[in-house]
Amino acid sequence: MKATKTCPKCGSKSVTYKKGSSNSYSGKFHLSIWRSAKLERYICLDCAFFEEYIIKDKSFLKWSEKQKKNIKPNLDDDFVDFV
Ligand SMILES: [Zn+2]
Repeated sequence: MKATKTCPKCGSKSVTYKKGSSNSYSGKFHLSIWRSAKLERYICLDCAFFEEYIIKDKSFLKWSEKQKKNIKPNLDDDFVDFV
């Protein structure tokens, strides 16, 4: 939806964009206690379907780089350790 500007549910091209306000709680997504990310939404004006994305600002990129280092190549290994 972000890339195509077309609604994946109904195929409408009437897709609008809305940035989450930095003041409102719903406009933020908490990555951690200290870090929150601003959100952007793509909304279909015909069927009201919407998608949310985190705005890739400096704060998000720093956080995502850290997360990438924590991704394990094989998730099954984690499960074996847990059991
Ligand atoms: Zn739609």
